[in-house]
Amino acid sequence: MTPPDLSELPERLSRLHELALDLSWTWSPGREVFRRLDYQLWKRTHHNPVLMLRQMASAVLERAANDAAFLAVYDRALLAMDATRVTAVGHARTFWHSQVKTATDEVVAYFSAEFALHQSLPIYADGLGVLAGDHCKEASDLGIPFVGVGFMYPQGYFRQRVSPDGWQQEVYEHLNWEDAPIQKAQTRDRKPCVVAVPLGTRTVLVQVWQVRLGRVRLLLLDTNLEANQPWDRELTARLYGGGQDTRLQQEIVLGLGGVLALRALGLSPAVWHLNEGHAAFVVLQRLRDMHASGTSWEEALVEVRRTTVFTTHTPVPAGHDAFPFHLVEQQLASCWGSMGAERDDFLALGTYDNGAGSQFNMTALAMRSAGAINAVSQLHGVVTREMFEPLWPDLAVDDRPVGAITNGVHVPTWIGRDLGELFDRHLGAQWKDRYDDPAFWAGVLDIPDGELWAVRQTMREHLFRFVRERARVRFTEEDAGAARVVAGGAMLDPHALTIGFARRFTGYKRPDLIFRDPDRLATLINNPRRPVQLVFAGKAHPADEAGKHHLQNIYRHALDPRFGGRVTFVDDYDLLVAHFLVQGCDVWLNNPRKPLEASGTSGMKAAMNGVPHLSIGDGWWAEGYTGDNGWLIDGGVTGDDLAAVDAADADALYRLLEDEIVPKFYDRSARGVPERWLSVVKQSILTVTPRFSTRRMVKDYIERAYAPAFRRPIGSNR
Ligand SMILES: *Cc1c(COP(=O)(O)O)cnc(C)c1O
Repeated sequence: MTPPDLSELPERLSRLHELALDLSWTWSPGREVFRRLDYQLWKRTHHNPVLMLRQMASAVLERAANDAAFLAVYDRALLAMDATRVTAVGHARTFWHSQVKTATDEVVAYFSAEFALHQSLPIYADGLGVLAGDHCKEASDLGIPFVGVGFMYPQGYFRQRVSPDGWQQEVYEHLNWEDAPIQKAQTRDRKPCVVAVPLGTRTVLVQVWQVRLGRVRLLLLDTNLEANQPWDRELTARLYGGGQDTRLQQEIVLGLGGVLALRALGLSPAVWHLNEGHAAFVVLQRLRDMHASGTSWEEALVEVRRTTVFTTHTPVPAGHDAFPFHLVEQQLASCWGSMGAERDDFLALGTYDNGAGSQFNMTALAMRSAGAINAVSQLHGVVTREMFEPLWPDLAVDDRPVGAITNGVHVPTWIGRDLGELFDRHLGAQWKDRYDDPAFWAGVLDIPDGELWAVRQTMREHLFRFVRERARVRFTEEDAGAARVVAGGAMLDPHALTIGFARRFTGYKRPDLIFRDPDRLATLINNPRRPVQLVFAGKAHPADEAGKHHLQNIYRHALDPRFGGRVTFVDDYDLLVAHFLVQGCDVWLNNPRKPLEASGTSGMKAAMNGVPHLSIGDGWWAEGYTGDNGWLIDGGVTGDDLAAVDAADADALYRLLEDEIVPKFYDRSARGVPERWLSVVKQSILTVTPRFSTRRMVKDYIERAYAPAFRRPIGSNR
């Protein structure tokens, strides 16, 4: 795709478009280029350089082309981008090439229904997508031959608005392709890449887009082609939209279409990584291919298992897609003809009874076809081994083949700019290369408290400016009344202890737990000398009525004067909002019903920004809490009486706030610095950053899942 106004770029800045179209700018010096180029436009476009370049006045570009300081930043960004090109010298110095080494041109293919790379590409809903996006970014940094496969949803997930009485409204907007950092993928003979996927008794054409991400490419599938029937064109319109039938068809497109797209582009994966069961039909296409070339069922399955990696993401049963057999039979109708008796063998791979009768279960399919299976935290590993007992009825729980690779987050993406500069000054610029080395981070203890506190204050102020600007925009655009402007954060105090809670609104995450005793909370919040404020954000899944009621409940508290304007709901949670929140709050709250939070990652992002975690010992916190790097909420009550569990957990939460957190935060030295508080902040940064980085995580995947498949003899059928 040729950007429309390419010709208007000054000669000296002729590669600006190329930079804008490679999303590695988001965590490299490229970020500074676009930020400096036109700061107002940068903010107005929500940091979207592709859109910026379409709207930018040529005078601005001319000025930049003659500004030596700007050009130095620009040249540095180009150097960084060029170093990620395969032909570059820097490529040979990556972790993969220096430590793992494969002599082949094979790749890891990573399939996911969502990828969260940047807010300008709204093809994600929540944590699953953020994990996939961060995994790809780290794969680029480590130099893994890696390609992501997902969907280009033109309407994305949805944008969230909240009605005056707190009810979530879902707004679907059509993405303007030209404003997004995507290009059409081209085959080797420079033709647009289009593949034909059998669906029901028809064929659907799938167009392939690509996103560049440093050393990594992402392929995004799209059925919105004129040659398709109107209903097929809509198939990939929305993420998690539509009913079961749509979902099944999407998953067939992802699995079958994804394999076909890789082949059409001449890519030969050595490893097929399925991120969640949505992508498990990859297995079907590979089995079909091997069947067609005469490989026996048994041999084909051995080969598939040798090369398939599966990551499961939730212990909540409804999070595992399962379809009635008649639907699967119907939608895969044109696949069966070629498979003969193998059809029943294939259906058997997915057959699973999760308590509601036998169905075709995508997680079961993936688990029965993968050689390496992992959960996303150590505790989630334990829960998953118990939960899927029917798959391995003869194996003792500890022998079931489900490992655990705890999630992480991409450090350069999530560390705030001001904090990163503080690290540059005190730890040296090499922190960016060494952030998975726990010993290295001991240096944080030597950062002067006063400097760290000044940075923490600045980061909180950035959050407040962002929240207030959003409240102002809603006031003007939606004619929001005074109460709604307050609920949106207009009265926040930039110096008060600020607790953040941002995640999907759904029952097991208990978003309103902290309101269980409103009087006790109001006393805490309204303490005139030690005020506390709460900032909430998050979407409820469009079909989750209960989740929307939780959201409404929070919103009503935000409107309630008894909380003094100190309870806030920021609408339309996305990557941009997440950045401000995880960097700008003081404490990050997480209170799920244990053990339903598989991992959680927002708390990791916060903790490495010096925002200590206040959480139930679930997910990653069960292994991340050290005793002095945050706080553990433990009501001491377990069992089926959920009201009793909630009451005990809420009480434990209040006690931590009253006895520990608020006093520590407001206990200031003669110079106004909260020293005891900063000791927790430092422990939070230095314990969480290395262990819960994607660098540690992806190295674990390489060692335990990818490298073994690369090193074994290469089969003839791939
Ligand atoms: C990190 C992130 C998530 C996931 O956070 P959890 O702690 O797993 O809920 C969801 N949405 C966005 C926008 C994020 O940045």
